[in-house]
Amino acid sequence: MNDIKLALLGSEGAGKSAVLVRFLTRRFIGEYASNANSLYRKRLSIDGRQLNLEVFDPCSQSAESRCILEEPVDWADGFIVVYNISDRLDVGVPIYLVGNKQDLCHARQVCEEEGRALAQENRCLFQEVSAAENYQEIASLFTTLIRLVMEQ
Ligand code: GDP
Repeated sequence: MNDIKLALLGSEGAGKSAVLVRFLTRRFIGEYASNANSLYRKRLSIDGRQLNLEVFDPCSQSAESRCILEEPVDWADGFIVVYNISDRLDVGVPIYLVGNKQDLCHARQVCEEEGRALAQENRCLFQEVSAAENYQEIASLFTTLIRLVMEQ
């Protein structure tokens, strides 16, 4: 693979653009004003391979960036999650790892314990669900996440 796509995630002001601009230009741009989502391209060589790098930097201020977040999730090969070490709330954003299609027992490749361990490792909440068959677990994961967000 010579085309590599990465996306930055993190709350507004965490320093996503600053981290990316530092990588791209070696400089710290103190006030980097952007009111649009940005896609940066760079050609680079790593381990002797020529790569075309694309990095998506979402603009937290733009109304569309919240919807567009869905796109990098499909689009990107990797993510960089940036938080601000001087803001405790910034690191506390709750994340749910959800293993879906629990009804496809015959085709299971990832056991529940594997999913749970991955979630624990990454301090995520975890739930297996079947969108096709079950409402209750899904409703309860949404409610749990919403409660945690409201407590912040
Ligand atoms: P974004 O909204 O996540 O893209 O955040 P920005 O890259 O726009 O940075 C937000 C603010 O934090 C700006 O005022 C930056 O100058 C500042 N900032 C970013 N990175 C650092 C850093 O490593 N140290 C300090 N002191 N300030 C930073």
